[in-house]
Amino acid sequence: MYTLPELPYAYDALEPFIDARTMEFHHKNHHQIYIDKLNSVLTNTPDLASQSIDTLLVQVKTLPENIRSGVRNFGGGHANHTMFWSVMQQGGGGEPEGTLAAALTSAFGSVQKFRDEFSKAATTQFGSGWAWLVRKSDGVLAVMQTANQDTPLSDGVTPLLCLDVWEHAYYLKYQYKRADYIAAWWNIVNWSEVERRLKA
Ligand code: MN
Repeated sequence: MYTLPELPYAYDALEPFIDARTMEFHHKNHHQIYIDKLNSVLTNTPDLASQSIDTLLVQVKTLPENIRSGVRNFGGGHANHTMFWSVMQQGGGGEPEGTLAAALTSAFGSVQKFRDEFSKAATTQFGSGWAWLVRKSDGVLAVMQTANQDTPLSDGVTPLLCLDVWEHAYYLKYQYKRADYIAAWWNIVNWSEVERRLKA
């Protein structure tokens, strides 16, 4: 059975960029519901439920048909939110350094060009979904979008940074102004976690 991971910080830690009320609903309710539904989908396949959610999502296209969309949607929701909490921190933001800064500059021309491309992906993702920085199998970094709770793991690439652009992630504070949420979010990015994932 999958369980809700504790947030690595308090609900109000990301104020004023993400408000405490949004964080609490998002973690305690939205994330928990994905987990409950995922557990329900896997009730009769305990061998699958005992694996890490990332492992299931990497092979989601070959899972039995009766559980495939459930794992894709609810398992994706669990994995994506677990990662999302980890790539933010109180007092985050600033500039990426070292290996990560060099990799971003190499791939995008500059860190600023990476930020612009990532923000554009987050802004233009139509409807619900996510923006991602990923490392492809050849080691090259790229920005991508996914719809709903789809994860780049299912495309054989490694996610390094993600941003939730579902309305539930920002509507209480930002309403229809998704671009304002995205601009504010850069102030809480946990770059050391992104670099850890890059080196993993
Ligand atoms: Mn969400």
